[in-house]
Amino acid sequence: MIYDLAIIGGGPAGLTAAIYATRAGLKTIVFEKAACGGQILQSTKVDNYPGMPHVSGLELGQKLEAQAEELGAEIEYDEIASVEKSGDNFTLKSADADEYTARAVVLAAGVAPKHLEIPGEAELIGKGISFCATCDGNFFKDKNVAVIGGGNTALYDALYLADICKKVYLIHRRDEFRGDAALVDKLKDRKNIEFVLSAKPISIKGDKKVESIVVEQGGKEKELEVAGIFEAVGHVAMGAELNPELKTDKDGYLLAGESLQSSIPGVFLAGDLRQKRVRQLTTATADGAEAVSSVLEYLKK
Ligand code: NAP
Repeated sequence: MIYDLAIIGGGPAGLTAAIYATRAGLKTIVFEKAACGGQILQSTKVDNYPGMPHVSGLELGQKLEAQAEELGAEIEYDEIASVEKSGDNFTLKSADADEYTARAVVLAAGVAPKHLEIPGEAELIGKGISFCATCDGNFFKDKNVAVIGGGNTALYDALYLADICKKVYLIHRRDEFRGDAALVDKLKDRKNIEFVLSAKPISIKGDKKVESIVVEQGGKEKELEVAGIFEAVGHVAMGAELNPELKTDKDGYLLAGESLQSSIPGVFLAGDLRQKRVRQLTTATADGAEAVSSVLEYLKK
């Protein structure tokens, strides 16, 4: 079976591409390694998707998946390990060595959370260190936790955890947040959130589970006793490992031109994995539509 289009990633960018591709008559397959929905699955509430105020990330993810399937996209739960040009087509190999053939590819594999890479972290991931407050917050009911980062993810995480945990330390390396001022104001109103600013995490301690985090603040070391640490220090792009000819910027984000074609003709990019200014749900879905219009032009040629 030769698919017209293979989409790697079942998040909002990939599923929107699937919706547009199937409506344009393309035989389309979407590969997803975990659960469709991507990063929005971690949001209990999405407030900035036009026309769907207060929708949960899970509900939106499920709706996108159902819409793509209803229109005829095949959804395959498999992890793609490589994408190679073979003649006019592309061969996609899965981690289990299954092979798929497609005439064009949209890479929409998203991003993965960045790690702090400090002593103690590697040993304690999953033993108190988490990258998803909505997934793991309940394990820390009535306990002290730390959230690391100053972007919107860290701000939302701190707000979410403040409802569950005894105390939330919000640790940020600068004295000014990168995230929205309106959210910062909400955090200031919460009695059990303490800002720990201009503080650089230097190590995480704990025998079999997290017991504390050490930060450097004003030239001094400060140890905060916490049972949980939620890292929200940004992301790294996925996908570049699929083919060595895919070009990236210095931060690892994949490069595409105006048409969203990557450095490989016939391979297009959509969503957070590509170099862009705004990484939001709306820009991800816009990419999905845009990439498919370029796929259609490419296939005509
Ligand atoms: P981000 O905006 O890149 O923020 C990452 C934060 O981590 C920054 O404050 C950064 O500090 C800090 N950081 C990075 N490396 C660090 C290190 N080694 N040690 C300590 N701190 C470190 O990432 P994000 O918060 O995940 O947001 C990503 C995108 O998604 C943004 O565009 C954001 O607006 C969007 N988002 C939107 C929503 C929403 O609207 N519902 C929710 C979540 C995220 P500096 O500030 O000093 O660089």
